[in-house]
Amino acid sequence: MDKHEVARILDEIGVLLSLKNENPFRIRAYHNAARAVENLDEDLELLVREERLEDVPGIGAHTAEKIATLVATGKLPYYEKLKKSIPSGLLELLKVPGLGAKKVQILHQKLKIKTTQDLIDACKKGRVAKLAGFGEKTQEKILNGITQINRYGKRVLFWDAMQAAKFILEGLSKLKAVEKVELAGSLRRKLETIGDLDFLVATESPKAVIDWFVTQHWVSSVISKGPSKASIRLSKSGQQVDLRVISEEQFPFALMYFTGSKEHNIHMRQRTLAKGFSLSEYGFEPTGKKTALKLPKKLSSEEEIFKFLGLDYIPPELREDMGEIDAAEKNKLPTLVEEKDIRGVFHSHTTDSDGHNTLEEMVRGAQELGWEYIGIADHSKSSYQANGMDEKRLLAQAERIQKLNRSKKFSTHIFAGVECDILTNGSLDFPNSILKELDYVIVAIHRSFQLDEKKMTARLIKAIENPYTTMVAHPTGRLLLRREPYTINIPKIIDAAIANGKIIELNAQPMRLDMDWRHWHKAKEKGLKCSINPDAHSVHDLQYFRAGINCARKGWLEKRDVINTLTLAKMTALLKK
Ligand SMILES: [Zn+2]
Ligand SMILES: [Zn+2]
Repeated sequence: MDKHEVARILDEIGVLLSLKNENPFRIRAYHNAARAVENLDEDLELLVREERLEDVPGIGAHTAEKIATLVATGKLPYYEKLKKSIPSGLLELLKVPGLGAKKVQILHQKLKIKTTQDLIDACKKGRVAKLAGFGEKTQEKILNGITQINRYGKRVLFWDAMQAAKFILEGLSKLKAVEKVELAGSLRRKLETIGDLDFLVATESPKAVIDWFVTQHWVSSVISKGPSKASIRLSKSGQQVDLRVISEEQFPFALMYFTGSKEHNIHMRQRTLAKGFSLSEYGFEPTGKKTALKLPKKLSSEEEIFKFLGLDYIPPELREDMGEIDAAEKNKLPTLVEEKDIRGVFHSHTTDSDGHNTLEEMVRGAQELGWEYIGIADHSKSSYQANGMDEKRLLAQAERIQKLNRSKKFSTHIFAGVECDILTNGSLDFPNSILKELDYVIVAIHRSFQLDEKKMTARLIKAIENPYTTMVAHPTGRLLLRREPYTINIPKIIDAAIANGKIIELNAQPMRLDMDWRHWHKAKEKGLKCSINPDAHSVHDLQYFRAGINCARKGWLEKRDVINTLTLAKMTALLKK
């Protein structure tokens, strides 16, 4: 059993215990142990064998024993028993926004609610509102939450889907029978949210691969199983995973077919038909129409298929039918930005506001990523729920940052900034006399989401026009699968940013990915610059820049469009302006 699965089970034990109203310290111990396991640098099995689990911070005697059993036997009777003692529907209820373990417990005890449907019925009869601590507002919120869940269906964030996909991919690639394996579908296109997970395998022994696939410990149920295809459901998320097995010869065609969006594939097929062939997941077929093209004996990669059609290779991220096929024909595809191009980021929090790591820890994290600089942007005073800083604390932090820079303790340079709240009328949370003391200013909306489009747009534009504003944070405020964007006119925001020489961030927090990739292609052609920012609230979150790179690539961005690919010297000069 790998560490991700162990961490998942520890987390689930924590959740199950909270549904049983257990001691909060015990509950936290399981969640802490889950984090510790997830972040292990060492091999988990080795740690168990050498009985060194308890040396890992976050793992205690009690949790170490459970982990050892899991790793050694692949099972944990304690967990199985615990699971049986709680109706399975209650875990589902926890996914409803606004429902924590405490409220789920009350619903279960007082109203005998066991499933989402029970809850809908009880809400409609007004019974939930009458419970102590609930009320009309909560009841309405619960109902809305359930509608939202149904609308979003079983989609998950790309970041979360990738955690599951990684170990399936690892497992498949270790199989002897597997010649080639690839992700396909929206996962390969790196869409921000994912429905089903798709895998493609080239093999001469399909049965061996499929038998392996449907019998793994992360499978909760087998949806279907045939000679060349199987679908299962994952125990953790309930996600459906589809596996297709084919011959090596068909592999590039199937990969192409199962990667492109529906629209991209239609466009590709039309193009192929015009050239006298039909294109499917199995290969090219002559249509009988006269053609100047001669089909080669074998096309062994996607590159060769594209080339045969007179196209440059289209990276999977771009296969959305947003102009990529025409661009590929004219050799005008962008050279997409890559993870290694990033030299620093600008949106990171510390324990001075709502971050989990100190200033020095965050800088060390950036240094370990090899970054030349990191910008610190803690919350401003109006974000009191996030422990926002007042003028005095902000200036004191800036002074600590300058001192740390002078000390040369880290090779990574620190820029002193702030994530400054935009008030309802569009003015900023701090006067310019304070803002001018900083290296840069990110402006952000964190409240009054209900304004109409005109007011919201004017509010953000006013903030963009402030001479001390450097960049705009998460411009639509959306939380994927949770909260819709607020109504705002994005094209106008883009124009205002360009006119004022301001940057818009691509907030790389996997739940935000805001501004959406669909806007970037046009925006960059107009001249907008992007900053890919992790909105990190811990050292670990700095990794989110990778999710930002995915979306930047989907938005056709190149290195030159992304300001945090600049060297420290160039960046310092840019911020001075
Ligand atoms: Zn924010
Ligand atoms: Zn933030």
